[in-house]
Order: sequence, then C-alpha cells, then structure tokens
Amino acid sequence: MKLREYEAKKVLKDSGIPVPAGVLIRSADELAAHLDEIGETIVLKAQVDVGGRGKAGGILMADKGNAVTVARDLFGKQIKGLPVREILAEQKLDIRHEYYLSITVDRARKAPLILFSDIGGVEIETTAQERPDAIRRAVAMPLMRDLPPFMLRELAGNASGDVAPIINKLYRIFCEKDALLAEINPLVVTPQGVFAADAKIIVDDNALARQGIKVNRDLSEREREAEKHGFSYVELDGSIGVIGNGAGLTMSTLDLIEYYGGRAANFLDVGGGAESERVMNAVRLVASVPSVKVIVVNLLGGITRCDDVARGIIAAGISQKVIVRLAGTNEAEGRKLLFEKGYEMLDTMDLVVKKAVEVVA
Ligand code: GDP
Ligand code: MG
Repeated sequence: MKLREYEAKKVLKDSGIPVPAGVLIRSADELAAHLDEIGETIVLKAQVDVGGRGKAGGILMADKGNAVTVARDLFGKQIKGLPVREILAEQKLDIRHEYYLSITVDRARKAPLILFSDIGGVEIETTAQERPDAIRRAVAMPLMRDLPPFMLRELAGNASGDVAPIINKLYRIFCEKDALLAEINPLVVTPQGVFAADAKIIVDDNALARQGIKVNRDLSEREREAEKHGFSYVELDGSIGVIGNGAGLTMSTLDLIEYYGGRAANFLDVGGGAESERVMNAVRLVASVPSVKVIVVNLLGGITRCDDVARGIIAAGISQKVIVRLAGTNEAEGRKLLFEKGYEMLDTMDLVVKKAVEVVA
C-alpha cells in the first residue's frame, strides 16, 4: 500500500530526515489558521495517488496573501482524473539543487537496491534512459541494519555531507516499514540544509498486519468485496469480464483474449468447490464494472459441479451477455439448465473467447 506524501514525510521526520514545515488541510478555509506556522512563501501539494503530479498541475506556489485562494483553486481541480481532497501546505524551499534517492527490492538479487543521482527531480525517468551512468547503485546485504560507510560514500559521491546519513536513515526506514519502495525525489539542497521535498513509501501488502495498517486503501471497493469472498480478482482496462476456476485456467483464458485481439475488463478466479451462491456472487461482482460488455465463464467441474455453476449464473440475473464453457462433473445437467434459459454455450475455451471478442468488436 502506498503511503501518501504527508504520511511518508511523517515517517521520515520521525527518523530524523529533515522535511519542510507543513500542515495537511482538507479545505481552503482551514489554511487561514495555519499561515503563520508555514511562512511567507508556500507550496500547495495535492495529495493524490498518481505519479508525475507536479507536471500534471498538482503543485502550486503561493504566498501568504493569496494562499487561501490558490488552495481553493487546487481543491477545485482534478489531477489525472482524481479529485483533490487533501492538500499538503508547506513552507516553500529555496531549492539550489535536486538529488534523487530511492531504495527498492532487486528481485533477481533478492536484496535492497539503493539508487542515488546528482540529477534528481521530475525528469528522473529521462535521466535514467539518457544518462544511466548518472545514477549510482548499490546492493545491500540482506539483514544488514546499516549500510557500510564505504557504500554510503560511493553512493553520495561529491554530494553535500548531509546526504550520506540521510541515505542510511532511509535504508533503515525501508527495512523497518517492510517497504517495497522508499523514495525521496527530490532530495534538495537549500541554504538551510538538505531536505526531503517529496517522499514516497510503498509498504508490502503482505506486511500490513505487522505494520498495524488495518485497511488497504489501494484496493478498489470491488477488490475489497472480492477479498471478503476469497476470490482472486484483478481489474484491467478492457471490456470482457472473465470468470474461471484455478489460476491456470483463468490465465489461459486471458491469454486467449489477447490472442484474438480482445482485452479483459477484469478477471476473477472463484477457486475450487464453487457452489451456486459463490458463482452468483462472482458473476455479479464481475458484471458490476460498467465497462464489462460481455462475460466469459470458463469453468471446469471437478469438486465444482456444473449444475451448481449453472444455477449460480442464472441466479445472478445480470444484464450483460454471458458466454459459457462448462466441462466436467454434472456437465449435462448444467448445460440443460443454461440451455433452457437461453444462455450461449460453446464447447471449448477457444470458441467462447473468440465469440466474446466478436461481441465487443
Ligand atoms: P511530484 O511531481 O509528485 O514528484 O512532486 P514533487 O514534490 O517531487 O515536486 C515536483 C517539483 O516541484 C520538484 O522537483 C521541485 O522542482 C518543485 N518543488 C516542490 N516543492 C518545492 C519547493 O518547496 N520549492 C521549490 N522551489 N520548488 C518545489
Ligand atoms: Mg517527486
């Protein structure tokens, strides 16, 4: 789960990494009471869960005199389609230089990877492509509590002397928070010292309980609903809904959709032993996504009985077209039930997928 900037900055601050003075506001009027704490010049930063927020207009500069008006303006905006509900109002830093610092997991090496660049800021992706040599990297030995001084020196290079201890502090945060990513971009040099001007921390979803995080905010309402039922459920951006049982069958259905030039809107793996009520819930959940125009049900009866599946599909009573492939236990009974209700059934997954792609074409 991704922490918002103000949450990540609190973690940084608690660990002794300097962050600018600031307050979180949920309305423009709230800002008036805090202006004295922040200072004469102010940065207003929309707390939306998208990358490249600065370039998308989510960061506005103001001064004490017009800050409330500018905040009102920002609250009225959408940043990459997301409404602005929270703004972090911060003292504007007098930035002389921007560094990039990031810690992530190198999956091949199974160890934390630390990246540092003297050229930080919003163009870091371009730097990575055009000047990969400008990004220094080091791999930490797992279970190491602190990075060794030689590694910090190599990473920081000629950067300000404040930088090496910050790299180590961020590394500790990365380990203690069970993070998949801890990033400061930009880490800035000002006449008052080095500050984290932005911060991003992603906590591993598998560690949320240990971290005392109760709700995974990154899940959509439907994903949360799916979790409740024990479905594996993922949303994509196409128009075909997919229901399968077992990861292999579900994934091959998705592959076939791509093969025939279609695109799935979502997919749901009901798992083993799907009774009719479970199937009904699965079909309703997949159908509840507005972009779903047709649903492919590809189920193999083992413990799952095809007649139960058929009853579930019928009970769901959804408006979209459902194309079914059922095979296995009680197949004939299942097919009969669906046939009587006028459902389209085809014998192979190849055929159901082809048909679904035709329907949405
Ligand atoms: P992002 O676009 O979501 O990564 O937002 P950042 O917080 O990284 O800000 C983007 C850019 O806005 C930074 O690289 C800075 O150039 C600029 N910026 C952010 N905060 C300040 C500030 O306090 N003072 C100045 N001068 N520029 C800032
Ligand atoms: Mg940034």
